[in-house]
Amino acid sequence: MALLNLHLLGSPVLRQQSAEVTAFNDELRQFIDDLFETMDTARGAGLAANQVGVARRVAVVDADGHRFAMVNPVIRLREGSVRGEEGCLSIPEMYADVTRAERIVVEAYDRDGQPWSLELSGYAARAVQHEIDHLDGVLYIDHLSPLKRGLLVARYRKDNRGEGHIKVLKPAAAGG
Ligand code: ZN
Repeated sequence: MALLNLHLLGSPVLRQQSAEVTAFNDELRQFIDDLFETMDTARGAGLAANQVGVARRVAVVDADGHRFAMVNPVIRLREGSVRGEEGCLSIPEMYADVTRAERIVVEAYDRDGQPWSLELSGYAARAVQHEIDHLDGVLYIDHLSPLKRGLLVARYRKDNRGEGHIKVLKPAAAGG
């Protein structure tokens, strides 16, 4: 397995529409393993392929006890509406309230190309919506008012002045 580099706000790949996966092969499975390892090391609740510079419809989630990879995911049902705080590994240290569907049904394929469907609510539903947005080139800050988004981006840029758009993760300390 390998740690992948995180792409941060400003990297063009975060705004790309990702391509459907057509081949379920060892290369895809390796990529999914790497996404899990990178998400865990960065302590995220989810990670989409765009965030490691790959515009393909693959993401991993680990939220509220739900841990899975989703390939070519689609949300089939959205119910209710709830506000809650979100952050993003591609916009470190920043958080804002975002309104999302409260309950969803998501359909996707697993690493072997088997279709599955899952009904989720709460934080796991939020994480899935956030990750699928990534695959469409959408960031959570796009759901904020222009004023709030402008303030958040300005603060992020100020705090990260001179930093590039790529973050190299260090392996987690053994046993830590
Ligand atoms: Zn994100």
